[in-house]
Amino acid sequence: MAESRPELHRRHPELIATLPHLPLGAGPTPLTRLDGVGSRNRLWCKDDSGFGDGGWGGNKVRKLEWILPDVAGRGSRRILTVGALGTNWGLATALYAREQGVGTALALVDQPVDEHVRAQLVRLRESGATVHRTHTKARTIAFAPWLFVRHGFPYYLPAGGSTPIGTLGYVEAALELAAQVRRGEMPEPAAVVTAVGSGGTAAGLLLGLRLAGLRTRVVAVVVNDTLPLAERDLIGLARGTERLLRSRGARFGPLDLGSGSLIVTRRWLGRGYGHPTAEGFAAARVAVEAGLTLDPVYTAKAFAAALAFDAHPMFGDAPIVFVDTYGPR
Ligand SMILES: *Cc1c(COP(=O)(O)O)cnc(C)c1O
Repeated sequence: MAESRPELHRRHPELIATLPHLPLGAGPTPLTRLDGVGSRNRLWCKDDSGFGDGGWGGNKVRKLEWILPDVAGRGSRRILTVGALGTNWGLATALYAREQGVGTALALVDQPVDEHVRAQLVRLRESGATVHRTHTKARTIAFAPWLFVRHGFPYYLPAGGSTPIGTLGYVEAALELAAQVRRGEMPEPAAVVTAVGSGGTAAGLLLGLRLAGLRTRVVAVVVNDTLPLAERDLIGLARGTERLLRSRGARFGPLDLGSGSLIVTRRWLGRGYGHPTAEGFAAARVAVEAGLTLDPVYTAKAFAAALAFDAHPMFGDAPIVFVDTYGPR
């Protein structure tokens, strides 16, 4: 059973009526030490791979917990969103929106096709989504008016669902992590490491950790070269989400979202979005020994970064948390 009351509502009851939440997965997700992995035995995993009750899991489901109530609140029966061929976001949207009686149309651009993408295309076909293969970003933009009319002026969501409302999913995950630290499940981590595809996960973690009063930094491992995902973009999204919370009545003091608490790196991107890297494959092999199944597009690259940060002295011996955002079934 999914949890009934999110941390965000527990801490800010003033948001219960103004920012509705639809439970789609079970929290808190496990926080486990990756024994024997890395150099100092201080790598942990916040395992969101099992988050989601509806046929696909991972980080996108957390975003949909806040997005789908907004879709319903606007009386919309159809979502239009975009992604690449192997889109985890499009699949999660199609599956969880369908449960709410909402249809999904997808405009998909090309990405390198491998086994992993082929399997995803089969799942997409079975999800009931209407798929338009627009091939390039330019053609997607050119076809946008046609798509809006064709689908009856749908609720539009950008790639990855990284709107301020979607970003609340990882504000919630960070508050969950902070509650786990408070309960003594682990000491306060020096950093959380996540893949960055559209930014909502990293921005939400940053905002949530600051809201919770932790000093934990966010290491944002950029795996997508087709969207603006620099530090200012991610901080901008976190600020936009902070404004959303305040506009819905949340009461909290000023937050410092800058000051080096976000570390953005493109070092593990390789040739670009969807192009696997040797470092990613090597990291995925290490992860298998710890019981993690990683994907080549996002989590393998982020885990490669986590291993490098673990081997480096910059965080001393303090714990580092890798967020497993990949939720295959
Ligand atoms: C989408 C995705 C990410 C990136 O999350 P964003 O919020 O889009 O930055 C990371 N891992 C997996 C498996 C994803 O599908």
